[in-house]
Amino acid sequence: MRNDHASIESWMEALAVKHATDEAQLDYGGDIKRNAARCRKCNTEIESVHRHDLVECKCGAIFVDGGRRYKRRGGSLSDIIELG
Ligand SMILES: [Zn+2]
Repeated sequence: MRNDHASIESWMEALAVKHATDEAQLDYGGDIKRNAARCRKCNTEIESVHRHDLVECKCGAIFVDGGRRYKRRGGSLSDIIELG
């Protein structure tokens, strides 16, 4: 069993170093239990529950998308705290 939480965090850290503002996507093949993140700027917790459910945080710095299908993250990637 792979550790999704650890893998997506290391992947996001690598991306955030390269691009201060960007978006990224990781395909989990539809077996995501929870597609959620928290914004470091406004401390809002956001969750995407459907495949095309793009949810932005209060301040607009970040968004999550993809629901249970894939994890898409956008905006200021270094301000994203992964919640699962
Ligand atoms: Zn925010």
